[in-house]
Amino acid sequence: MSPSLGEYEVVVGLEVHAQLLTRTKLFCGCETSFGDPPNTHVCPVCLGLPGALPVLNGEAVRMASRAALALSCALAESSVFARKNYFYPDLPKGYQISQFDRPLASHGGLEIDVAGGSKRVGILRVHMEEDAGKTLHGHGSESIVDLNRAGTPLIEIVGDPDLRSGAEAAEYLKRLREALMFLGVNDGNLEQGSFRCDANVSVRKVGETKLGTRTELKNINSFRFVSEAIEVEARRQIAALEAGERVRQQTRGYNDVRRETYLLRDKENEAGYRYFPEPDLPPLVLDEGFVAGVRASLPRAPQELRRHLVEQLGLTAYSAAVVVSHPRIAAFFEEAAGGHPALAVKTANFILSEVLRDVEPRGLTADFPVTPGQIAEIIELVEAGTISGKQAKEIYAKVKGSSASPVDVVRELGMRVVTDEAALEAMARRLVEASPKQAAGYRAGKANLLGFFVGQMMKETRGSASPQVVNEVLKRVLAGEERPSTEPPMTAEPEAMRAPSLESAALARGGATFMDSLIPSALESSLGMPPLGDAGDARVDREVETPHGPPAGVHLKATPPPASPVGPRSPIADSVIPQPLTLHSGMLFHVPGPSAPPVIPVPLSTLASLGLRVGVIESATRLHNPAALVELLVNVGEAAPRRMRAILAAAAESLVGQRVVVACNVEVPGPEDEPRTMGVLLVVGAVPLTVPFQVPPGAQVE
Ligand code: ZN
Ligand code: MN
Repeated sequence: MSPSLGEYEVVVGLEVHAQLLTRTKLFCGCETSFGDPPNTHVCPVCLGLPGALPVLNGEAVRMASRAALALSCALAESSVFARKNYFYPDLPKGYQISQFDRPLASHGGLEIDVAGGSKRVGILRVHMEEDAGKTLHGHGSESIVDLNRAGTPLIEIVGDPDLRSGAEAAEYLKRLREALMFLGVNDGNLEQGSFRCDANVSVRKVGETKLGTRTELKNINSFRFVSEAIEVEARRQIAALEAGERVRQQTRGYNDVRRETYLLRDKENEAGYRYFPEPDLPPLVLDEGFVAGVRASLPRAPQELRRHLVEQLGLTAYSAAVVVSHPRIAAFFEEAAGGHPALAVKTANFILSEVLRDVEPRGLTADFPVTPGQIAEIIELVEAGTISGKQAKEIYAKVKGSSASPVDVVRELGMRVVTDEAALEAMARRLVEASPKQAAGYRAGKANLLGFFVGQMMKETRGSASPQVVNEVLKRVLAGEERPSTEPPMTAEPEAMRAPSLESAALARGGATFMDSLIPSALESSLGMPPLGDAGDARVDREVETPHGPPAGVHLKATPPPASPVGPRSPIADSVIPQPLTLHSGMLFHVPGPSAPPVIPVPLSTLASLGLRVGVIESATRLHNPAALVELLVNVGEAAPRRMRAILAAAAESLVGQRVVVACNVEVPGPEDEPRTMGVLLVVGAVPLTVPFQVPPGAQVE
C-alpha cells in the first residue's frame, strides 16, 4: 500500500461477472457467439417480446456449479431466480433475470499470494444471471443497441471485503480468472468483456472494524487499472475525509489517462431494483447426484498444480507460474513430461525457451506447432547424450508443424553429439594458445573466464559438443599445461626473466608515459592478469596503436630473446601491444582483443584506488621526440605539481588552465625514480578528460 494512505487502510471487495462458455444463451436457444453482425442472435425470449417464456439452460447450471464448487462454495439445494428491475436501452425486458436472496452458492473462498505468504479471500456468494445487450455510443447523435449479448449466461462472484490494496485486488482477480479458465467455464477475456470486474472501495482508520461508506468502481478492464483505480479512489476518499467531508455512496468510473475516478451516478440501493421472484421460472433444485457428479469432474486447481510442479517435480516458482499461466500450456507440459517425471525440469525449460515462442493463447485455446510426444522424444534424445541441447533446438525447428518423429530426423541427418575428447582437446589447446591473456586471467583466479573459452568451443563445434566434456577438457588444458600465476614465482627464476611493465619499458625507451598504454596494464594487474608488457619476450618492433591512429615515432622496441616454445610466461606477440581503451559510462572497460573482446566489469573500488583527482594544467610543452607527446605540469592540490606526459592533439598553449582528471595513485617507475611526482592523465582519444565544473584542484573524483 502506498505510504500516502497514512493512518488509513483501504478495504476492497470485488464483484466479478464471468461469462459462461455455453453454446447457447441462458433462457433461449440463441447462440452466444462474439463479434457477429449486430442483432443476428436474437429471438422473442431474449428480445423480451410479450408472451415469450424463459427455459433454463442446463449446461449453464452445470458450469456455474463447477465454478462454485471449485471456489469452495456450498451449493444451495434450492435457489431462486429473481427479476432485477431497471430501465436501460440494452435491457429489452425492463428487468434482468438474476438471483437475489437465494443464490446458487455461498460461503466460499480463494487463496491468493500476498507479500510474505498467502491469504484466503472470502467469497460471499456465486449466483447466475443473464447479461444485457450492448449500447454503442458515438454514432453521431445516435447510439445503437446490439442485443446479441442479451441473455448470455453469467455468474456473478461476490467477494468479501477482505482485500487491503489494489495489488491484492489484482492478485485475487488473476487467481480467480485462472481458476475459471482451468475449469473451462470462462475464457478470461478482459478486453471482450467476458471477465469483468466492479470494485467496492472504502477507507477507514487502521484499527477500526466498522466499514466506511463505499463507492463502486465500474467495469475496469485490466489488472493494472484495477490496482491503479483502487489506489486512486482510496486517496480521493481519504482527502475528502481529511477535509471534513463525508464519502457519498456512488458509482464511479476510472479515467486511466487522467488517473482519476469520476462520478457516474449516485448509487441506487437494492430496494431501488424492486427485486421479486421470477414468476416464469420455478426454483432451481440441485439433487445430490448432480452435485456429486460435478464435484467428481473438477480438475486439479491451478494453485495445487503449481505447488505440485515446484514441490514434486522441482520446477522453479517462475517456471511453474508460466506453465500454469494457461490451461492448454499446463496440459501440454503435463503430457510431455508425464512419462518421465525426472526430466520434468528439462522439459519445462525447453517448452518455456523454445515452444512457447510459437504459441499464442487465444481465450481457452492455444495452438501448439508440435505434439507433447515430439517434445518428450527430443528431451529423451538429449538425455541419452545422442544430441546436444543446441541440436535439440535444431530438431525442434525441423519437426515443427509436422508429425515427424525427432528420433527419425536425428537418424536421417546423421546428427551426433561430439564427444571425441581427443579432438576437443586439440581444439581447446589451439583456442587457449590463441588467447593467452584470457588464459592467464583464468589461471590467475578469474574462474569465469572459462566461459569465454567454452563459448568459443561451442561456437567452433556449432553447439554439437557436450558442454560437460568441453568444460572438463578446457579445465584440464588450462590447468595442466602451465603454472598457475597465483602461485609465487619460482625462486629460481632469474630477475632478468621477469617482464618489466609496459610503462617502465616505454619510459626506458623513450620516456613516454601515456594513458592509453598505462591504464590497460594497470587494469590488467588489478584484474589479476600479468602486466601486458612482457617486453622481454616480445618479438615485435611495431608501432603502438592508439584509438587516434598510430602516433609517429612512438615505438616499442624490444630486444627479441631466442625463439622460445609456447610455455610458461610466454604470451604471444599480440599481447604486448597496448590495447586501445574505451571508457564506458557504466564503469566498464572494454579491452578489444584479437578475438571476441570480453567486456570486463571493473569494481568501483578499483577505480577509487586509482586516486582520481581533479588537476589544473599549469604548463604544457610539446616534445619533439617523440612527437605528439606533451609534457604537462598539473596542480592536483599538492605542494608541487605532478609531471606527466600524454599524447594530445590540442596545441600545448590551449591546454593550460584546463581542469583534467589525474590518476594519482599509479606507480610510475621512471628513470628519475621519483614516482610520487608523476601522475597519469585520463585521456579519451587524444583529448584529456576534462571537468566542466569549477572545482578546486585536488578534489577527489568518485
Ligand atoms: Zn434468444
Ligand atoms: Mn450482476
